[in-house]
Order: sequence, then C-alpha cells, then structure tokens
Amino acid sequence: MTIKERYRLTFEYFKKNRPVVETELLYKDPFGLVVAVILSAQCTDKRVNMITPALLKRFPDAKSMAESGPSEILEYIKSCSYPNSKAKHISEMARMLVRDFDCRVPSEPEILQKLPGVGRKTANVVASVVFKKPVIAVDTHVFRVSGRIGLTINARTPENAELQLTKNTPPELMHDAHHWLILHGRYICKSKKPLCHECGLTAICKYYNSVIRKKPDKPKN
Ligand code: SF4
Repeated sequence: MTIKERYRLTFEYFKKNRPVVETELLYKDPFGLVVAVILSAQCTDKRVNMITPALLKRFPDAKSMAESGPSEILEYIKSCSYPNSKAKHISEMARMLVRDFDCRVPSEPEILQKLPGVGRKTANVVASVVFKKPVIAVDTHVFRVSGRIGLTINARTPENAELQLTKNTPPELMHDAHHWLILHGRYICKSKKPLCHECGLTAICKYYNSVIRKKPDKPKN
C-alpha cells in the first residue's frame, strides 16, 4: 500500500465515523483557548474545563489577567498539574499580549510561540482551532496513533511527525485530521491497550498487522 493510499483510507474512515470533530476544551474566544491549552499540558481536558470557567470569569481578557499576578492566578488553578509554573506562564503570556500585541492573540504559529508557556504544539492547536490554519499539532496521541497506523514512518520526534503529516495531509483536512487522531488515540487506540476490536482501521494499520495480529493467543486453562 502506498503512503498516499494509507492517508486516503484513514481519512475516509474518520470522515465516515467521526464526522464532527472539535476540541474538547471549552473556550469562548482565542484568549480563553490559549489559557486552556497552557493548562492542558499534562492535564486532562475534563480537569481544565472544570478550572477555566471561574478563572476566566475573574480574568476574562488579557488586560485583566495581566493586571493580576501569578499568585492570584494560582488560587484558581491549584487542582491542575504544575500549577506554579502554569500560573507564571499565564501571567507572563497575558502581559506580553498587552505589551506587544495590543491585547490580541496572534494567528500565526511562529508568532504564537513567542508567548510564554506556548510551545510549538500549543501554538499549532490555537492556530488550527481558532484561526483554521493548515497546521497539525502533534501531541502524544497524534504521535502514537499516526505512527501505529503508518501515517508517519520512523518519526523520532513530534517535529518530524508533524513534518510527515503536514506533507501528506490535504490542507483542507488538516484541521480535522488533528482532532481525528487525538480522539482516536484518546478513546480507541489507547497507549497501553489499543481497542483494535473496536477500530475500523485494522485492514490498513501497520501496528495491527505487524504486532497485534501476530501475537499468539493466550493458552486457555
Ligand atoms: S487497529 Fe489498533 S493499533 Fe491500529 S489504529 Fe486501530 S486501535 Fe490503533
């Protein structure tokens, strides 16, 4: 099977089986999404969605957030992982938005990455979700699932996986592809135990055909 066919069949499957895809993070505007994505590092979307309503009610925009300090922000995000460094990043990010960007969230991933706490993955999520830019954010799910299916080959780093995915994904599907792969990784192609019996990609999945299918059955007692 050519790589082109593998991509075509994968996306055909997702189009049919996951027609509606959006981020599971709740947000009202670009600023709210940047805050949510910073909080989501090493933390579940469910937890972040419990934190952001009160935080963003108190600090609804870059200006009000910039006027606060990390200790005030910390009070709202204590239940999240790495709260101290995230509070610091959110505070500095808001200050930079006020100082350098007229309180507006930039749309280009390269510029977004200048914001404190915003790495390549976060920048791509914001650019893709809010501004519909044709970029793919590679998180742990996207990295694992694309490698297992065979959409990426021998990718050692998220950057390399991103390069391969970007090269082979039609621009109009880039936004959906990001969510398809994340959701598939979160609910079906799980890290420790992929639910291959629930997955419609077994015919084309490299990992399934080279590892899972060849595993000997456990002996019955
Ligand atoms: S067949 Fe299994 S390993 Fe392959 S994508 Fe589906 S769940 Fe993941």
